[in-house]
Amino acid sequence: MPDTPKVSRCPLCRKQVPAEKNPFFPFCSERCQLQDLGAWLDGRYEVKSDDPEYEGFDG
Ligand SMILES: [Zn+2]
Repeated sequence: MPDTPKVSRCPLCRKQVPAEKNPFFPFCSERCQLQDLGAWLDGRYEVKSDDPEYEGFDG
């Protein structure tokens, strides 16, 4: 088994992000965390987060 670090993917920018010792998990950074929160407050999540256009949201 290769010694691969435990990583997840940022739900916003899809960047790989370490799952451990990450204060912003599951996000890669505070920026993405705040953007996600902003999306929530905007009510965008009530539409549908699987919208293909969402893929264009690349930080
Ligand atoms: Zn991110």
